[in-house]
Amino acid sequence: DAVIHWFKRDLRVRDNTGLSEAAKLAKEKGVGVIGVWIMSPQDWEAHLVSPAKCDFELRSVEILKQDLAELDIPLHIEVVEKRKTLPNKLLSLAQEWGVKNIFCNLEFEPDELRREEKLTRLMLENDIKFEPLHDDCVVPPGSLKTGGGKQYAVYSPWYRNWVGYLHSHTDLLLERPMPQKNPPGFRNKFKQLFDAKVPEAPESKCLTAEEKERFSKLWPAGEHAAIERLERFLTEKVGQYQATRNFPSANSTACVSVHHAAGTLAARTSVRMARDVNSTKKLDGGIEGIRGWISEVAWRDFYRHVLCHWPYVCMNKPFKYEYTNISWEYSPRNFSAWTQGRTGYPIVDAAMRSLNSTAYMHNRLRMITASFLAKHLLLDWRLGEQYFITHLIDGDFASNNGGWGFSSSTGVDPQPYFRVFNPWLQSEKFDAEGEFIRKWVPELRDVEGVGVHNPYAAGGKAAEVARRNGYPETIVEHKFARERCLQRYKAGIGRD
Ligand code: FAD
Repeated sequence: DAVIHWFKRDLRVRDNTGLSEAAKLAKEKGVGVIGVWIMSPQDWEAHLVSPAKCDFELRSVEILKQDLAELDIPLHIEVVEKRKTLPNKLLSLAQEWGVKNIFCNLEFEPDELRREEKLTRLMLENDIKFEPLHDDCVVPPGSLKTGGGKQYAVYSPWYRNWVGYLHSHTDLLLERPMPQKNPPGFRNKFKQLFDAKVPEAPESKCLTAEEKERFSKLWPAGEHAAIERLERFLTEKVGQYQATRNFPSANSTACVSVHHAAGTLAARTSVRMARDVNSTKKLDGGIEGIRGWISEVAWRDFYRHVLCHWPYVCMNKPFKYEYTNISWEYSPRNFSAWTQGRTGYPIVDAAMRSLNSTAYMHNRLRMITASFLAKHLLLDWRLGEQYFITHLIDGDFASNNGGWGFSSSTGVDPQPYFRVFNPWLQSEKFDAEGEFIRKWVPELRDVEGVGVHNPYAAGGKAAEVARRNGYPETIVEHKFARERCLQRYKAGIGRD
């Protein structure tokens, strides 16, 4: 009597492959579409999803429900306490509604793939067709190979191939058709499904009322907010992107990662819309900022391709297995100083405090803080990876794991381990006026001039202000940290 689209990390109506195919088939069969969204607190727990992200998803589901209702498509909402019961829950819903076809969009992490495999078999045994489709990546994983037929582990040649592939497979960037209105009478027949209520977040993922309000203002949810943000960026900022993207105070990036992560915006939509405002109408050539921005969105695909080919990166293993036995320091004191933004390195502290307050961090700062944790503090990079995923509103396994691997030199296409960021030089280069530092580290607000980058070394008034306001001394000395890092990495590589 209906076709199901099961919404997961694709909380949108527009440009949604699975939903579009479900609607197409429903039309052919002369039946309607039912949307299903299933909240699984155990999955949120297991994948360390941040409360900010859970809240963002719940807000987006509310908007999705309203958008679908305008098409007379109901969104049925379920909560499964035990995640292993999810396949049977979906089966019983399909049977209850007389459904023979279920669509969804494919996710690539091992837990999700195993679940989808189980679903495929279970549905087949019950004469139901379960179809997970490619949607999450612009180019499906596995499509791009090196000259020797292998998966790329280096971004630049992969990216050239990615662009070429998209120029010759133009269908991959086409907008998926919007579903049409469900047939007359459908709404009446499935009336009770339109009354579904979006649940509250489970207790462990609850925000305080103050946080809820703060994050709703900072991060408006749903696909309309996503498109609005993207359009504004493409109209006002993309031209300057390449020149300004590394400066945290410039507010010059798109801030759509939260939407890519929840699927309120497809990466495909982003790339297509950017291409369409390029003077060449292509992914390359034309306006530098657009080209540059598209190549950043491509990083998201790159890390997903890597994850699909080397799924052990999902299992707490470094991509470079010869880096498995570096002996990390396990200092709770240093870890806590890092998380709280009290390391005595102003740019690191400002960045960590911005994360704690906004659930987001600028990309340059993610690189600086990640490098600082792994190389200056010699803490296991996985501690930092975990802290990020449990606090980011745009937390995304592949991008986060990829970013941590890159910054700690244990990952795919890494910074060589002997290149250790100097936090002060990074600070002078990318926050030259100290604007970002002063915004997030009030103890240093009254420090004038360049002293703000390293107040105790600057001495004089800068040090006096820092001391008076209780700003901490550096928890580790830069030169010592650099030497220790080089030695420890060198000794650890390849050690059994
Ligand atoms: P823009 O500069 O406007 O870029 C556009 C889009 O491209 C982003 O929305 C994002 O989807 C994608 N993108 C940009 N840079 C990268 C990148 N390096 N890797 C993958 N995708 C990228 N991104 C996440 O979405 N989730 C994470 O959990 C995450 N963790 C990270 C951890 C570390 C240590 C590092 C170094 C990077 C991480 N990133 C992560 C990548 C990047 O920092 C964010 O995607 C970016 O800051 C988001 O801001 P924006 O939307 O304004 O980006």
